[in-house]
Amino acid sequence: MKKMAFWMVPVLALAGCRYHKPAYESVLNYPVKQAPTEEVLYTPGHTFFSVWSPNADSVMLYLYDAGEGGEPLRSTLLKPQKDGSWTTRQKGDLAGLFYTFQIKENGRWYHETPGIFAKAVGINGQRGAIVDLQKTNPEGWSEDQRPALEDLNDAIIYEMHWRDFSAHQNGHFHYPGKFLCLTEEGLSTEAGQPLGLEHLKQLGITHIHILPSYDYGSIDEKGAFSEARVLESGAAVGGNYNWGYDPRNYNAPEGSYSTNPYDPTCRIREMKQMIQACHQAGIRVILDVVYNHTYDVEQSAFTNTCPGYFYRTMPDGQLGNASGCGNETASERPMMRKFMIESCRYWLTEYHLDGFRFDLMGIHDIETMNAIRHMADEIDPSILIYGEGWAAGAPQLPEDRLAMKANTQELDRIAAFSDDMRDALRGPFSDDHVGAFLAGLPGFEESIKFGLVGAIDYPQINMDDVNYSCKAWANRPAQMIAYVSCHDDMCLVDRLRASAGVKDDTETAKLDMLAQTAVLTSQGIPFIFCGEEVMRDKKGVHNSFCSPDEINAIDWSLKDRNKALFDYYAGLIKLRKAHKAFRMADPELVRQYVHFAEAPSNVLVYMIDGSTVDDSNFVVILNANRNAVSIHIPVNGYRVVVRDGVVNADGLGYVEDGKAVVPAQSALILQEI
Ligand code: CA
Repeated sequence: MKKMAFWMVPVLALAGCRYHKPAYESVLNYPVKQAPTEEVLYTPGHTFFSVWSPNADSVMLYLYDAGEGGEPLRSTLLKPQKDGSWTTRQKGDLAGLFYTFQIKENGRWYHETPGIFAKAVGINGQRGAIVDLQKTNPEGWSEDQRPALEDLNDAIIYEMHWRDFSAHQNGHFHYPGKFLCLTEEGLSTEAGQPLGLEHLKQLGITHIHILPSYDYGSIDEKGAFSEARVLESGAAVGGNYNWGYDPRNYNAPEGSYSTNPYDPTCRIREMKQMIQACHQAGIRVILDVVYNHTYDVEQSAFTNTCPGYFYRTMPDGQLGNASGCGNETASERPMMRKFMIESCRYWLTEYHLDGFRFDLMGIHDIETMNAIRHMADEIDPSILIYGEGWAAGAPQLPEDRLAMKANTQELDRIAAFSDDMRDALRGPFSDDHVGAFLAGLPGFEESIKFGLVGAIDYPQINMDDVNYSCKAWANRPAQMIAYVSCHDDMCLVDRLRASAGVKDDTETAKLDMLAQTAVLTSQGIPFIFCGEEVMRDKKGVHNSFCSPDEINAIDWSLKDRNKALFDYYAGLIKLRKAHKAFRMADPELVRQYVHFAEAPSNVLVYMIDGSTVDDSNFVVILNANRNAVSIHIPVNGYRVVVRDGVVNADGLGYVEDGKAVVPAQSALILQEI
């Protein structure tokens, strides 16, 4: 229990007389329409505090002058309100102070907590901070705008972790591992190739998807700060590495990605500066959000504001564990749903974010996900929402209510990752040493076709031969994320080395290009993992969530060494952006104007009649065989725009005599003249 002053006892008794708390069972369905999610409303004259805890006996507020340690400057008993919240108005200008709430329920005082909606926090997120958010805006923030995006499947996503992207010393970042690494200019490789934000512009992607960047628990922000400072001017990355899938405060940025985690405004300002720099470069920013579980239960803000409410339990009363991390949240409960909606709204409005990737989205219920979509539409319908349509274990909610991949058709313009396509290309998640199409193995063609059309209902695919799905699961192509690799498990190069029997880096690069040709010509939304464009590896580590920088940091000298591969990625992205034929939004157009021709084993011939979308006709041929194949092209007048690892929109020659020769382990793309 928190140190309590003797004078509080009679006040608590008085509060108990005025407030009739509801029975616990009714709390689970307690009406939340009027309940606030804002916990701190700051003005220079006073600050209004509010915490939702309908089952509490009493709630305290403590004010401190630091983010950790010391005694409270002020301790106040909050007043219960009819909407289940407890409130107090504190006079004076409190900016710069820190706060915690502490609730008592059934006679037990819980841990102090910053609440569930802390927008600013001190070191390691232990206490909330009172800040004037207006003062965290970088110069020009009011003019900041989302770059244009006409249609959801115009997106090309680049998934990145701050340290992967900027920690390697040969990148020469001034802010390695920090938000600010994307605000730097003039970075380059030895050979003068641009790095940092310029690298992303050169690649041509439309969105970065940043791994969890709200406050998480697995990195000691103090260590990250002091080590970086010892190594002078913040020019080194301090502390350990973690992906960050262990949320602590959902609505405040992670401190270890800022230059000073002790200053609550610093992480907010620097994250905004990063987003502003990306927007000015024409790149949108997507945040990876992990509402499905918390870092722990004992210390979590959910437990310590309304114990038991925010987590699902099993019939025996134990916590559900569909996340595989010891707990699963209950998105179907009114306040959890409201929390997720308001949290997303806050990131979109305060930080100008452009989308969300939902970790283990299959744990959340469909109704909540659609409510988030509708909230986002009120702000900007071009906001991108997608997630993992699965869970790590069986959720404590009926399958038909969950935002699983198989239920994507019930989600409104929310996409799911296609593991069908991913594993048909590279092999199953369960065994890194088992290959598939890229390894030259037959039998994966139907699954890849399913990925190329965006997982929609499509007449030319025999669903019996699709690896994981027995029926279409997307209403439209923009509901499918096309990918072959992401931060999880082996990256593409490691996977090819482990499973495709490649003899050298030349063969690895060929298969890498072939894989991404499937991804970047899919009617779904293409997604690539950072560094794949320069052939990064992770030294064969499958689950590198806490591996050191030696494993995870991208060695940017690879960009000089593998420039041809980078140019291939950039060339394909440019081709995709130039032609609507590769990103038809309307599923009916895909059904009518995309055709697959007869092809030998391990070859796909994908023909797009682009004239329907005011574009050229294309033929895409993917050949995973270790020998060249000759494919009959029924019409003449095609020029080659992609051949054997080279992209050239002006043409690399013509198809002669209706025959297209596709070199071993490569893609050929033809464009009608
Ligand atoms: Ca943290």
